[in-house]
Amino acid sequence: MDVDLTGRTAVVTGGAAGIGRASAVLLARCGARVFVGDFSESIEDPDELENLEITVSRCDVRRESEIQALIEGAVEATGRLDILVNNAGIGMVKPIDDVSEEDWLNCIDTNLKSAFFGAKHAVRHMRPLGGGAIVNMASNAGLLPRAHDPVYSISKMALVGLTKSLGLCHAKDRIRVNCVCPGPVGGTRMMNADLDAADDRGAAERAVISASPLALAYNRMIDPHEVAQAVLYLVSDAAMMVSGTAIAIDGGKSLGVPPAVQTH
Ligand code: NAD
Repeated sequence: MDVDLTGRTAVVTGGAAGIGRASAVLLARCGARVFVGDFSESIEDPDELENLEITVSRCDVRRESEIQALIEGAVEATGRLDILVNNAGIGMVKPIDDVSEEDWLNCIDTNLKSAFFGAKHAVRHMRPLGGGAIVNMASNAGLLPRAHDPVYSISKMALVGLTKSLGLCHAKDRIRVNCVCPGPVGGTRMMNADLDAADDRGAAERAVISASPLALAYNRMIDPHEVAQAVLYLVSDAAMMVSGTAIAIDGGKSLGVPPAVQTH
């Protein structure tokens, strides 16, 4: 997609790795000044981020004060905020019996509360500019809940709801709020952690691919860059009339029950 974001400032949370990193890189390649916040000090290929003049700061999105500081740092440096990508997230594969209050808070605070408070501080700076774009990284689990990760599914379904609610509230400010619903995305720390935890990694990978009709047809997972393209579209002027939507980049996983896998 040919998009020029020159002169625009973007904040991307969870940009040290995976989808957030791919999104930060793509926005920067399109000309945006990008500020990444992540609580991990392990940044994938930091040289590439430095070459693109992407500023990386430590930020735990579970704390409002840290998201506020990330956003205000970007505004202090550039005088504006045009784009916020609330991408940081964690998985939580546990049945209800095993979920502690701490697990619940960790998952909901990371995946949901962070996006609400990120939006709160972004809106303050976008409103005076006459508009802006917020993209929340939800999941196919935000469109169809899954049996193996109820807390994660709840967090992502609520994130889709938050997207619609804030899209409705801030259209008058010309602030667009949308979400992307990926899955399954290969090469991410989240996916690798799930596969590494399986007894048979190969079988687990085949099962993940088989649950998504297009992933199965291409015999591969979705690439983080393919998700980043949806982020780029949603923050671009091409999406000027798009708000409150949830774009599934999930190879059709949320469409329903896929056809049975051929075993011969
Ligand atoms: P990832 O683990 O590679 O990247 C997530 C990043 O978020 C990491 O850099 C991590 O350090 C950061 N992070 C986590 N908690 C944080 C916190 N409290 N404060 C700041 N940073 C924090 O995984 P990913 O797949 O790139 O995940 C990005 C988003 O995509 C998440 O919201 C995830 O739920 C969503 N998602 C991923 C998949 C998938 O298959 N990988 C599918 C659907 C949705």
